[in-house]
Amino acid sequence: MTKIAVYQVREEELPIVEKWSKDNNVEVKIIDGQLTPENVHLAKGFDGVTTSQNMKVPTEVYKKLHEYGIKQIAQRSAGFDYYDLEEATKNDIIISNVPVYSPESIAEFVLTQALMLIRKVRTIEEKTNEGDFRWQPAIRGGLLGEMTVGVIGTGHIGRIAARLFKSFGANVIGYDLYPNEEATKYLEYKDTVEELVKEADIVTLYVPATADNFHQFNYEMFKLFKPTAYFINDARGSVVDTEELIKSLDDGLIAGAALDTYENEGSYIPVDNRETGIDDGLLQRLLAHPKILFTPHIAHYTNVSVRNIMNIGLDSTLEVIETGDTKNRVN
Ligand code: NAD
Repeated sequence: MTKIAVYQVREEELPIVEKWSKDNNVEVKIIDGQLTPENVHLAKGFDGVTTSQNMKVPTEVYKKLHEYGIKQIAQRSAGFDYYDLEEATKNDIIISNVPVYSPESIAEFVLTQALMLIRKVRTIEEKTNEGDFRWQPAIRGGLLGEMTVGVIGTGHIGRIAARLFKSFGANVIGYDLYPNEEATKYLEYKDTVEELVKEADIVTLYVPATADNFHQFNYEMFKLFKPTAYFINDARGSVVDTEELIKSLDDGLIAGAALDTYENEGSYIPVDNRETGIDDGLLQRLLAHPKILFTPHIAHYTNVSVRNIMNIGLDSTLEVIETGDTKNRVN
């Protein structure tokens, strides 16, 4: 029987692994922790390996896996920057990722954030908790159907978000370095980001972090926004200059923001910080800001995503064992 070593499994994932194992008639062994030089020997005797790394996989690991006759590592996330692809290739190890697992999950969360912002849910909650039940302008909402929504990055997630916003009656405009035909069913492309942000009542991002867009959303950019506009970033923290976003909100350049990512989130997410506390002053200011809704990188986190990530990771492992390659290969 085929045997797969499954590293770094959270408790909530155990039933998914068990079901996959039964459905595919494959023996699986759960191994605690990420794949490291210290525990790679536990994969000996197995046909394949899957893991969810957020620490580097050093050369030694590829060499050992090669020695054991293992031909792949299936990473269970979209990002694969923890792998040395050259070293893996040298050792005949195929690295795969999970490029798409549920773009709907992220898009639906963005819609949730947009509705929370325009319906002023945070202020409503505060006032209601204090016993102030008056109908007053501070809690009076807007309507998506009367708004223009700007979608920056019209790939897998951006396109679905555009469709959802359009279904609410919004006028959707978009920008992408490489516009695509399918997106034009839901949005009208603008030629520049600047043109888009000048027109939009809500600006939402779906772009990867690159050297070119580092701190693209800074004070100068927010100056172009409508003062009534909302900004939503569930893409990558580094695209936004956090310090300047806070200043832009304080100076009234924009009305509010929802952020699911933060440029220095690395050591805080997804971690229980209750005992250790948060000693990053900028993050503390984000959390305390009355015009910012902050969430800890959870836009993707649904039962569908959790199930798909595990199943696709296991499928890719089996695909290499059975066929010698996988469509999700990245090296
Ligand atoms: P994708 O690769 O399908 O689409 C990205 C799009 O961005 C592409 O169309 C590309 O041409 C465009 N693009 C790249 N650089 C650009 C730039 N500088 N300006 C304008 N357009 C640019 O990716 P996706 O699956 O739609 O994911 C989009 C992003 O969402 C990811 O890169 C990631 O940062 C983020 N994400 C967040 C979560 C979360 O839980 N918050 C989960 C998954 C992904």
